Amino acid sequence: MNDWIERDAGRVWHGFTQMATFPLQEPVIVDRAEGHELIDSQGRRYLDAISSLWVTTLGHRVPDLDAALTDQLGKVAHSTLLGNGNRAVIELCEALARVVPINDPHFLFASDGASAVEQALKCALQYWRNIGLDQKSGFLALRDAYHGDTIGALSLGDGFHSEHFDQLRFAVLRAGGYASPGWAEEACSLIAANSERLAAVVIEPLVQAAGGMHIASPDDVRMLAASCSEHGVLLVCDEVATGFGRTGSLFASRRCGIQPDLLVLGKGITGGYLPMSATVASGRVFTAFMGEDLGSRTFYHGHSYGGNALAAAVASRHLELLAEWNVLANVEARSEELGRLLDERIAPLRAVTDVRLCGLLGGVELAPWISARDVCSEAVRNGVLLRSLGEVVPLVPPLTITSEELERIVSVLEQAISTVGGGGARG
Ligand SMILES: *Cc1c(COP(=O)(O)O)cnc(C)c1O
Repeated sequence: MNDWIERDAGRVWHGFTQMATFPLQEPVIVDRAEGHELIDSQGRRYLDAISSLWVTTLGHRVPDLDAALTDQLGKVAHSTLLGNGNRAVIELCEALARVVPINDPHFLFASDGASAVEQALKCALQYWRNIGLDQKSGFLALRDAYHGDTIGALSLGDGFHSEHFDQLRFAVLRAGGYASPGWAEEACSLIAANSERLAAVVIEPLVQAAGGMHIASPDDVRMLAASCSEHGVLLVCDEVATGFGRTGSLFASRRCGIQPDLLVLGKGITGGYLPMSATVASGRVFTAFMGEDLGSRTFYHGHSYGGNALAAAVASRHLELLAEWNVLANVEARSEELGRLLDERIAPLRAVTDVRLCGLLGGVELAPWISARDVCSEAVRNGVLLRSLGEVVPLVPPLTITSEELERIVSVLEQAISTVGGGGARG
């Protein structure tokens, strides 16, 4: 066994990982990267087909992003946003304001998706208190939802062994997820029946990603948004996974034709370079927090590293590159190719029960008799980095992926499924 794995296992505690068996899981210990490939401590290369858990958009070591980072380093790495400002953050907010699907946006920063979800929950709750409707304090979320691992985000979420924390989780109203037919009608009737006590509805627009890559029809999402607005319930769109081009438009809300009251951004915001997230409030929500200095309408919340200047500089340059490189067109074209490859070569396999894809956010669902985890391990042995999610093998390549690289991912996956499952086409 390589020395780095032993040293890692000796001191590092990995998230969502059983540490007792960690060294046996053949973990990749990354030393460096080039473009879409990660390179391990022994010089082996792995195509990053999960975009480092869905954060990498343009690949690794992008010269323009590296330059934005070092330029900012020459100015200042970080200064607090509590009560004071930073040029890099102002520039980022002005640029984001031109593209986010929200009316008169205002940006509140944090460092990870879960914290930005917490901010959205607190904003929604205090919004109603600030306008004198304290009884509107409940939340509606969907089955198969995933919004992060902090307590509030975990309360909204469903599954992922969260039962250990049930004593800390608050209760939410729950409608079906995108995998259940009629989910939107169910959610709308819950909203209508509970509007007086609901502060907000929280959804992942278009795709429930971590919950298994379930895809909604934009019409259903639009119906839900209309119900929120009709019944005076705020709509929170968690675009931590779907934002920044992942589904083929810059934001999935746009694709659904909706404008949330609160929008949550994370993962791809810095192209996968630095931890940054944001809660975006509409003008209507933001205005309800205006009041006397040191008064009770103020939003008493903030994180030490919120609005980090290095992250902001990279995020600004990243936003420019998405446009300059016409990245959305690549997502569109490669998504079509990947869809075709999956239909032709993966869907017919006996071990495969479903393939789902929206932009470059997709998953292959396997039958219960084959281990998705073993399939991913086999793919990793063959140089394609994949990580299973229950019975699903997520396919989340960088947005700049090429046709040849998609071929490589699908070939390796096809071979891994037959090696692990004994192969063969259905019927
Ligand atoms: C990943 C994810 C989160 C949590 O983000 P972290 O940065 O891991 O805390 C929240 N919501 C969605 C939809 C996600 O995919």
